[in-house]
Amino acid sequence: MKYPKDGKFGEFGGKYIPETLVPAIEELEENYLKYKNEKNFKKELDYYLKVYAGRPTPLYYAKNLSEKLGGAKIYLKREDLLHGGAHKINNTLGQALLAKKMNKKRIIAETGAGQHGVATAMACAALGMKAEVYMGYKDTIRQKLNVFRMNMLGSKVHPVKSGSQTLKDAINDAIRDWITNVETTYYLLGSAVGPHPYPVMVRDFQSVIGNEIKSQMKKIDNKMPDSVIACVGGGSNAIGTFYPLVDSNSEIIGVEAAGHGLKTKMHSATLSAGSKGVLHGMMTYLLQDKEGQITETHSISAGLDYPGVGPEHSYYKDTKRIKYHAATDVEVIDAFLMLTRTEGIIPALESAHAIAEAIKVARKSKKSESIVVTLSGRGDKDVEEVQNYLNKNTKNKVKKIQ
Ligand SMILES: *Cc1c(COP(=O)(O)O)cnc(C)c1O
Repeated sequence: MKYPKDGKFGEFGGKYIPETLVPAIEELEENYLKYKNEKNFKKELDYYLKVYAGRPTPLYYAKNLSEKLGGAKIYLKREDLLHGGAHKINNTLGQALLAKKMNKKRIIAETGAGQHGVATAMACAALGMKAEVYMGYKDTIRQKLNVFRMNMLGSKVHPVKSGSQTLKDAINDAIRDWITNVETTYYLLGSAVGPHPYPVMVRDFQSVIGNEIKSQMKKIDNKMPDSVIACVGGGSNAIGTFYPLVDSNSEIIGVEAAGHGLKTKMHSATLSAGSKGVLHGMMTYLLQDKEGQITETHSISAGLDYPGVGPEHSYYKDTKRIKYHAATDVEVIDAFLMLTRTEGIIPALESAHAIAEAIKVARKSKKSESIVVTLSGRGDKDVEEVQNYLNKNTKNKVKKIQ
């Protein structure tokens, strides 16, 4: 849906916000609508995307991987090559620039593992601004390198000691801050989630991915891909990949984290195993218990560990335009190792979920077909995690990769 006026994708999305935030959300929507088509704003953003972040990213034909699997040609959309090592910078540059135009001097953000916090701090530094980032206290301990990075980039980290001391508590505190300081403060959200207009705005900033894929595939193959695959956490790299292709004939598959398996409670597969509800200002699929309490999530990749999902994905799930599958930790480690060994590309564990699905699809496909996979980020940050996993599990769980 191009620009849902009331922010509704069918029954999903909307603006479930306290009265105090209504003026801020209205101001944001007004300004977003004003600037998104403005020549100078687009020119400035394009400039930063190009010479600062490194766009356009290549569409790489993974020949070795494709031949090993024996089916379709697999193309990787290399968002891992962007500044900061992931797609997140597409969104933080867009929103930071918008905040600047809106004359908001103070930027706040929330972060889980720290990736969005770092991407926000980078964009703010580049545009001459400073950010304050809310982060669960437990996450600041687990990801202390990212805390150092944000500090070095000139941003301030607020460790959040309430609740489970993780992402959802950080979001709550960031929202509280916003309510208190609406006039001076811009809240820079990290995925295609939250109240309208955030899901649409973040999708639009990330759609540069899908738009580039379309023109690159046209040049390489003179047709759209048979399948398009991306991993889904909050859903921003996926919706940015998918949205420009929803009107095509391509099969589209989003891949969630099945963790230890969908039958266990240790996963974060919101669309595959969740139910409808309201969280963080939006109606969407959620992982919650019968009383509506948000349940703990698990994923081997911190970036997919979120109990909700962008409302547009919920809409495409129910209308069946997009399929949502899930990959287990074991499948993800297999995919991570296979891509690393065949192509010399170490993917982020988040992105390895999409690779795991591509492996399944390729095995059933014909040589004449093509698959595009968005490689949302690079895996340098995950090498230690994979090493620990392999040390614990080599004997019984992980299959040997030839
Ligand atoms: C944050 C992150 C994700 C998940 O976020 P989405 O909003 O679902 O895209 C996926 N991959 C990488 C590399 C990330 O850093």
